[in-house]
This record gives sequence, C-alpha cells and structure tokens, in this order.
Amino acid sequence: MSDIKKPEIRILPDALINLIAAGEIIERPSAVIRELVENSLDAGACSIDVEVLVGGKQRIVVVDDGIGMNAEGVRLAMARHATSKIADKSDLGAIHTLGFRGEALPSMASVSRFSLFSREHDTDVGTEIRVDGGVVAYVRDAGIAAGTRVVVEDLFYSVPARRKFLKSDRTEYLNGYDVIVKHALSRPDVRFRFVADGKEVINAQPSTLRTRVGDVLGRRIAQEMGEVRGEQENIRVIGLVGRPEETRSTQSGIHLFVNDRPVRDYSLTAAIVRAFSGLILGGRYPIAVVFVQLPFSEVDVNIHPTKREVKFVDPRIVGGVVYRTVEAAVRQLTAVSIPLPRKTPYGPAGDLVRPTEGSIREAMGLWASLSDGRHRLEPEREGGAATDDSYREPDKTAPSSEIPDTVMKPAVPGMKLLGQVLGTYIVLSDGDGLVVIDQHAAHERVVYERIKAGRSRNAVVRQRLLFPMTLDLDGPDRAALVRHLDEINSIGFEVEEFGGTTLLVSAVPSIVSDGDVRDLIIGIAEELREGTGEPGIEEPIDRMIKAVACHGSVRAATELSEREIEGLIDEIERTPFAAHCPHGRPTMIRITRQEIERRFKRT
Ligand code: ADP
Ligand code: MG
Repeated sequence: MSDIKKPEIRILPDALINLIAAGEIIERPSAVIRELVENSLDAGACSIDVEVLVGGKQRIVVVDDGIGMNAEGVRLAMARHATSKIADKSDLGAIHTLGFRGEALPSMASVSRFSLFSREHDTDVGTEIRVDGGVVAYVRDAGIAAGTRVVVEDLFYSVPARRKFLKSDRTEYLNGYDVIVKHALSRPDVRFRFVADGKEVINAQPSTLRTRVGDVLGRRIAQEMGEVRGEQENIRVIGLVGRPEETRSTQSGIHLFVNDRPVRDYSLTAAIVRAFSGLILGGRYPIAVVFVQLPFSEVDVNIHPTKREVKFVDPRIVGGVVYRTVEAAVRQLTAVSIPLPRKTPYGPAGDLVRPTEGSIREAMGLWASLSDGRHRLEPEREGGAATDDSYREPDKTAPSSEIPDTVMKPAVPGMKLLGQVLGTYIVLSDGDGLVVIDQHAAHERVVYERIKAGRSRNAVVRQRLLFPMTLDLDGPDRAALVRHLDEINSIGFEVEEFGGTTLLVSAVPSIVSDGDVRDLIIGIAEELREGTGEPGIEEPIDRMIKAVACHGSVRAATELSEREIEGLIDEIERTPFAAHCPHGRPTMIRITRQEIERRFKRT
C-alpha cells in the first residue's frame, strides 16, 4: 500500500483522447471505409468511389460528390467532437444521419497519415489538410473536383501494437468488401465503385433494389427473390427475400437496415428466420435484404461505439411487423397450385391426361430457376416518409430485373398420374418430365398448414374420441405437456390432468389421420421437451403443430387408393408452402426430360 505513488488525476490532451477513441471506432481498415462511406452518404453523395491497397492497410481512398466543406469546415471537421449533424440534446433523440459523434475523422487521423481534400459546389477553390499521426502538417488551397476525397495511408503506423492485431491482407480486404456491400445495398440510388489493388470489384450504377442486389449478391439470386412490402403501426418493411431453397450456413445472407442504416439485430434477424419456419432446415439461414423504416424517434442509434446496433422503443412491435411482412412475402413466393384434374373421372392409372393452367414446375418453385416478374421491387415514390429518397430513379435500362412474361405462363402440357411406387411416392408426369411426391412429407405439410390456419381463425375441427383415453406419463414429458396444455388444446386436442401422473385425452384434431393417439401425444411431449435448441426462433406452438403433422400424417409405406391419392393431391393444391414439409425437406422432386435423356446418354 505504502509503495503506491499517490495518483494524480489529470485531463488528457486531445491527441491522446483521439488515440483512445480510435481504439474503439477504428479497429481495422474496414472501419475507416465504413466511417468515410457514411460521411459521404451523409453529405448527400450520388456517387462514392472506394479504393484500397493491401486490404486497406497501406492505403484507403474514398471520393464522393457530396456537398463538400469550405476551409473552415475542413479544419473543424478534424477537431474532436466537431460535427454538423447534431446541435443539442434533443437532436440525439431523433438522429437521421449515419454519423453524429464527430469522432471518426480525428480518430483515424490520429493513427495514420491522413489527407482530406474538399470543395463546396459553389466555389472554385478547395481545401487540403494533411495530418500525420494526429498532428496537422498543413492546410492549404487545392484545385479539386467538388466533393470530398479522403486518403488514409499506413494505418496504425504510429501504433505498432494495433498493427499487430490486423488480420491477413485478404481478410482485411474481405471485411472492407462486406462494408461496401452493406452500404451499397442500403442505398441503391447511389453509385458505388470499389477497386482493390487496382482491380475493380464492384461497379454498381444507381438502380432499383433488385438490380442492386443483383450487382452485389448475384443476378440469379436477385431474380428469384420475392418482394417484401408492408406497413403497420408506423413501421414500413420493404425489401427482397430469397427462395427457401437458397440458404446459407450462417446469417451472412441476411442484410438488415433500419432507416437505411446497416445494423445487426438479434431479434429482427430471428423474426426473419422465423418467417421461413418450416421451409428451411435447422441450422440453415435464408437470404434476405430487409429495410425497416420507422420514425427516427422510435429508434435509438446511440448505443454502440460503431453504431452497428440500435435499440427500438418497442422492439416487440417492430419484430411482429417484420415477421408478418416477411412471412407474407415468403408465402407469396412459394405459393403452390397444382392444377390437377379433379372432376375428370379416373381411368386406369395412366389415362389421366388433361390440359392444365399452370405447370407443376411453376407450382412447386423447387426447381424454378427463373423467378416470376411480379416480384420486381420497383422504386416507390410516396410522399412523406423521410426514407423515400432511398429509391430514387428506377434505371429503366437495367435489363437484369426484367424477366420475360412467358416465364409466368408456360405452355403447359397435360398432367398424368402414373400411380404410387414403393408404397411411399406418388408419381406424375407432365409433358416435360416426372414429378415424384413424397406422400408422407406432403401430407405433413397439409396437416401442418390446416392446423395452423384453423388455430389462427380459432376454428380447429376436433374429433371426439369414442372412448376418452388415459395416458400415464411422468417425468419431463408430463411436465412439458402440462406446461403447454392450453396451447395443445388450442390446436384441436382436449387433454386434461386426471390426477396423479394420468392425463385424459378426449379429443384430437380431426385432420390427423387415424393413427395411434398415444404416439401422437408422446411425440408432442418429446418435441416440447427437446425443442430445437434455438430459443426465440421457433415457438413451442409451432414445434407442437409440426409434431402433430409428423405423427398424424399418412405414413410412408402405406398403400393409397387412387381416390386417396386424388384427395391428397387435391389437398396439396390448396396448401401454402406445399413444396416443403414443415421441417423444410422437399415434398416433391422433379426429374426433367433433360435429366432422363442425360442418364440414357441421349444428349
Ligand atoms: P460525424 O460524421 O459523426 O459528424 P466525422 O468525424 O465523421 O463526424 O465528420 C465530422 C464532420 O465533417 C461531419 O459532421 C461533416 O460535417 C464533415 N464531413 C465529414 N466527411 C464529409 C464529407 N465526405 N463531405 C462533407 N462533409 C464531411
Ligand atoms: Mg462520420
């Protein structure tokens, strides 16, 4: 104790404060890119050029055509906590710019060799400032294009300890690339160009969201995506979602923007994933580009050092709107209609031929390699919302979002029911190949959707058991059931506690096919007990309905009569998402003529 020198409390000089702030804000080259691009967007740029050398470690240049700064502005911008974006406390409650803390430029200048060139549009002379390791070397006039150009060289040259923490050139380059992708997605109306080590990797012209998604995430993915659009309670949700077949093993395909700011948000991401529930396998994630737009006062962006996270005044409402809107989009995207004959009398299997209106290929979407043009997300110009300028001019010349109408209405030959094979699969043919339906998986989806729809309309149809059944259960299975009795009964069961370890079952949902009620209930109990290990993403009720669908559907290896097959196909036709079972596995596959020909080596 006595050895310790009496500490002296002192106020740190600005240069040191900047260094400390740089530690938080400028953790790596991609952070420089992010802060500079955000400044350019805040300055109203229509065009942003980013260039990096050696992953950004050696040099980062960002050039914009925004409003620019005059000489005084340039000097001020380099001062700590100097910002043009907020003025007083009340502004903090409704931040509508990407930046607001006034720390980014002085922070990066304190750990690099930094130059900034800027000129306002209505003057001839621009200004150049040079700062080395936080020390201003000079400020002078410069003849440059209107707008701002920032050059950051030798990042962390003065702080070797931080330089050591940088990853490989390639990794740093990829981090920067991700930043540009996010920002390019956030503002399809702004031109973005990215050049790395002399090679142009992104050159995206101002366009629609779909074209922009095509530019940065890939054309095929963009063309197949479905349009998200909805508005509730002051919250607007727009964007594009990928087909459920197009998944990723991480959440990297989910791009979320709140008032055009790229953000990470656990609960909104979960809401998006949940909208795909039953369509994609556990552990896989969809592709989605989702914009949530709400009044600036409803969201706090001042909670994270790099502004990557936000806090909603009412997160549950926002999550609900996102879920419902995205789910509607997914539903639309995967809508199925199998236009099979019902009124035509069956002849012997094989005679069932008749013209249909859509093709099963279109219907099932599973193999649809082309999207339909309906889901094009064109720029919308509505008055009012502050975010409208996110979608300025549609690029009428952009061909990539144009899908010929013929894709929508293919010439469709007849459909033929060939019968059931292996006691499990229903085989159909149209003029262009074979379709094989997994009867269990397809029926599972039918049962699942029926129960879900019945429950949401409060109209599940129950089937009373002739003799109520008692079920002796204990341990975690019983506890799980008892805990969820209300939910179980809301989907068509009548289960009650009957003293001791006994439960009494007196009704089941009428849609389940005659199976073993005991199996069914135990299946539910197990499902409830185990869960999926992904809390928050899947509701217990959903898991329960899946368990019912699984245990209450026609089994594989069950011979079906033609009438039953017809009935099932009829059901499939009326069921949303029928191309996948509730666990996300496909219910149908198509074997095309080409594939058959290829296997016979005809091609
Ligand atoms: P912040 O963005 O939080 O305000 P910065 O340190 O990033 O803080 O920038 C400081 C100020 O410099 C900004 O408020 C803005 O007025 C000005 N500025 C920075 N970059 C640009 C730019 N590219 N074009 C015009 N003005 C800029
Ligand atoms: Mg800034």
